[in-house]
Amino acid sequence: MAVAHVLGFPRIGAQRELKFAQESFWKGTTNEAALRETGAILRARHWKAQADAGLDYVTVGDFAWYDQVLGTLALLGAIPQRFGFDPQQLTLAEYFTLARGDKQHFAMEMTKWFDTNYHYLVPEWSAATRFDGGVNWLLDEIAEAQALGYRVKVALVGPLTLLYLGKVKGEFVNKLDLLPSVIAGYQKLLSRLQRASVEIVQIDEPILVLDLDSAWVQAFAPTYADIQPVSPPLLLTTYFGEVKDHSALLSALPVMGVHLDLVRGPDQLATFAQDWPQDKVLSVGVVDGRNLWRCDLDSTLARLKPLQAQLGDRLWVGSSCSLLHVPVDLQYEEKIDAELKGWLSFATQKLSEIVALKEALNTDQFSYCATETDAQFVASRAALFSRQHSTRIHNPLVQKRLAGVKEGDAERVSDFKTRIVKQQAKWKLPLFPTTTIGSFPQTKEIRKSRAAYKRGEIGHLDYLDQMRDEIRLVVQKQEELGLDVLVHGEPERNDMVEYFGEQLWGYVFTANGWVQSYGSRCVKPPVIYGDVYRPEAMTVGWSQFAQTLTDKPMKGMLTGPVTMLQWSFVRDDQPRETTALQIALALRDEVRDLEKAGIGMIQIDEPAFREGLPLKACDWKHYLDWAVRAFKISAAGISDETQIHTHMCYSEFNDILPWIAAMDADVVTIETSRSDMVLLDGFGAFAYPNDIGPGVYDIHSPRVAQVDEMERLLRKARDVIPDQRLWVNPDCGLKTRGWPETYAALENMVTAARRLRAEV
Ligand code: GLN
Ligand code: ZN
Repeated sequence: MAVAHVLGFPRIGAQRELKFAQESFWKGTTNEAALRETGAILRARHWKAQADAGLDYVTVGDFAWYDQVLGTLALLGAIPQRFGFDPQQLTLAEYFTLARGDKQHFAMEMTKWFDTNYHYLVPEWSAATRFDGGVNWLLDEIAEAQALGYRVKVALVGPLTLLYLGKVKGEFVNKLDLLPSVIAGYQKLLSRLQRASVEIVQIDEPILVLDLDSAWVQAFAPTYADIQPVSPPLLLTTYFGEVKDHSALLSALPVMGVHLDLVRGPDQLATFAQDWPQDKVLSVGVVDGRNLWRCDLDSTLARLKPLQAQLGDRLWVGSSCSLLHVPVDLQYEEKIDAELKGWLSFATQKLSEIVALKEALNTDQFSYCATETDAQFVASRAALFSRQHSTRIHNPLVQKRLAGVKEGDAERVSDFKTRIVKQQAKWKLPLFPTTTIGSFPQTKEIRKSRAAYKRGEIGHLDYLDQMRDEIRLVVQKQEELGLDVLVHGEPERNDMVEYFGEQLWGYVFTANGWVQSYGSRCVKPPVIYGDVYRPEAMTVGWSQFAQTLTDKPMKGMLTGPVTMLQWSFVRDDQPRETTALQIALALRDEVRDLEKAGIGMIQIDEPAFREGLPLKACDWKHYLDWAVRAFKISAAGISDETQIHTHMCYSEFNDILPWIAAMDADVVTIETSRSDMVLLDGFGAFAYPNDIGPGVYDIHSPRVAQVDEMERLLRKARDVIPDQRLWVNPDCGLKTRGWPETYAALENMVTAARRLRAEV
């Protein structure tokens, strides 16, 4: 009989209960007991959902008070020593201090979990890091689940993945030198799990999908040989990609079984199925843990049937990865219509899909077509059919447009050298022109009137008046400050993706589709379900109004195709690049409309450009090629005089500079101040040809940067970038800042630029 399981369930709760409990504990309005109570309720609820759906095991250990990597460190006792906490007596409050910092300690660093938008806390390794035991929370959770009568599978971040994801702090040590102590720590932990009668341990080793050095690959066999004897049976899980290269390693590893992500790596199944050992479980992740579409159960079942004939009881069916990355429960989406809802499946619904597959596999092959009437299969078929035919998805206008895209559509009329001469002649900007990245402080009043408008409490005209007043204020302040290129301040935008998504066809917004981003922070990514189409102009009215208020150039402000894609759930019935191209075409029309309306500078933000990079370097070129093309399609089709800007937040650019240059934006602004302009060196060495605005102050802190500091950074920038190419701007948008510090910082920034001008 096939076995059904998931690699993890979202911990936040369908109504974000965990978030609210965490935040009120941090504020001091509730105590630790109340927070723990919420955690226990959520765990019990999520296990019940798994058991009720018919999974064979409930997963314990996927819960975390803040993050699963930090949770693993707390369990092993491997918390950073700089905080001075006793690992064995760690309190919840101290655990949160590790994650969030306090007056004496900066927080642990946070970074993206593989290519997801989930952020984990980065372990801090030094020669002195200890792994000899920490908190007992996991054992308490296991006892809870066992007391409720469930069969328990414990999920743990694996030893090599944990070690690999950490950063060496202080004196240099090779991470792998720590491996013996890590192994000893896991041995201790796993033997405790064995004594607690845990049936199975799911041990997550997603680093296997990365380009892994051979030293790391070679560490797997001895590590698992060391921990297996003292452990409950281990199911080693890989996800977010394929692990074909490691098939020999994985089939020989002393573990009970291996999990493969067949959504991200469908082709690897053949490699593994071929000589899969007689005594090992193969767990196949076929229900997508990264996206919210209903699974095509018929075709999935057809793929699994031969596998089941081969493996019998040793076939496990599961989610591709943890369901942490999808929203919790579709049933709370009351505003989404029935057709669209029929296409979707959130974490709770995915449990039933997995069970439906298992049951179909376990039904006697000869009992004629049980799936014909099974509710899950019927719904899956209906969704598939409707998605193939719905006119809401397939828009002939978009299809025609796509078919007509020509090679030259991605190119500007002339090259940058020619364009920049024309642009200079038109704008006559001084050397080191000053500008900002788009948003200005989003005050309480702005948020209030936007919300009131959304709820229908104020009418169009009142709303328009209030927003226009705000734009007037922002323009007036920028003129006072003496900035050279102005912006309207984006008061009408709640979020840079949502604002556009709400106006484009093919996008839908959920009411409650929250996904954990980090700690208590959740995001609600929009869903791209159909061909993307722009029924009318989206920003022209605001930009045009703003331009009437000033003689200086007013930058139009758009979110680029890659970012629009990257920060959404994307349809799975066509390649990502096709969706990107559709968005690009919609933006291209907006760019042209802005130009026609007299807006001569247009910024197309691409903060998510770098984060779209695939996990394996061999896949980079394909991505970068289509991502650059999508950007260029959105930015071309205008006259040479119109100046295209783009903006990217803090990223490592050096390894993708040829593609940044290929985007051929007239001006790129990047976040550099926190790296002390070091990020810029690569642009210099590469002889980046177009204009560039390295951020001269950090907008993440209310501290007002001084003239001298900015001047110093600009001098560093001048060492690598020619004066004629250099712009002066903050690191990023100013929407999270208050007015007083914003005004003061920009005043200093303009002074710094003027000081430099006076010298040349
Ligand atoms: N134009 C946007 C803003 O200023 C850019 C934000 C971003 O880069 N994340 O807010
Ligand atoms: Zn930014």
